[in-house]
This record gives sequence, structure tokens and C-alpha cells, in this order.
Amino acid sequence: MPNHDEQCIFCRIVSGSVPARVIARSDAAVAFLDLEPIAPGHTLVVPTHHSETLADLPTELVGPLFAVVQEAAHLLTTRLGADGMNIGINQGLVGGQRVPHLHVHLLPRFTGDGGGSVHTIVRNPPHETIETIYATITTT
Ligand code: 5GP
Ligand code: ZN
Repeated sequence: MPNHDEQCIFCRIVSGSVPARVIARSDAAVAFLDLEPIAPGHTLVVPTHHSETLADLPTELVGPLFAVVQEAAHLLTTRLGADGMNIGINQGLVGGQRVPHLHVHLLPRFTGDGGGSVHTIVRNPPHETIETIYATITTT
């Protein structure tokens, strides 16, 4: 039984109690147009199971979520003629997440649109060496 939170705007879009321009959906995920698009076709894909972050989403629902991401990306590319796309998740307050229900942003990109890449989100290179960071991550 999917987790549902009636206080959550994206759960309400999933259930249909708040309208949205849905472009693709499955039992596991819904893709709809962002209300304040920063690119033509700016789309959000949300799991139907309320989860705040990717870590909170049951592992078996991660693949089905990304199947709808793939379907929506295909639609945006073919119908809008996008030349490329940025696909990303704002996670946590510091990561820019404002709606506490996991959502994948799809930003169709067009040649000459003036946008950047994932590399333009932050410029905070580490003071430690990559070797130190690797050891910290992998040492148990
Ligand atoms: P975040 O900063 O949490 O990653 O982005 C949340 C996104 O959700 C924003 O781009 C915002 O425009 C979008 N959004 C917020 N409320 C609604 C809504 O009620 N309907 C739709 N379609 N998009 C919304
Ligand atoms: Zn929710």
C-alpha cells in the first residue's frame, strides 16, 4: 500500500486532489509539468510512495521511478525537440529542496539557451586529497 501524506502537495497531485499537467504515469511514479518552469517542458517526476529523499524510498521503487524519468525524458526530447537535458534531484535544504517529497527535475536543454551544467551548481573543491576522501568513504 503506497505511503500517502494528505498534507503533502505532491502526494495530493499523485492522488488527483490537486490538479497537475501529467505527461506520464505508472503505479510507482507520476511525471508532471513544473508550475514555475525554468525551461520549456520543465518536468518533475515523483514516486507515488511518499518519501522525502532517495534514501527514504524503498529500493524496489527506485527502478520504477527512473523508468518514468526515462519515459518523460523521451517525450520531452521527441515532442519538444530538446537537444539535451539536465536531470537532477535537489536533496535537503542545503541542496535546494523546498518540497519534502522526492522529485526528479527534468530540464530540457536547447542549443544556445545560455544554461550551464551540473558543474555550475557549486564550486567547493575539497581541501583534502581525493585519496583521503576515498579512504573516508570506503574504510569500515
Ligand atoms: P525543489 O526546490 O523542492 O527541488 O523544487 C520544487 C519544485 O516544485 C519547484 O520547481 C516548484 O515550481 C514546483 N512546485 C511547487 N509546488 C507545485 C505545485 O503545486 N504544482 C507543480 N506542478 N509544481 C510545483
Ligand atoms: Zn508526499
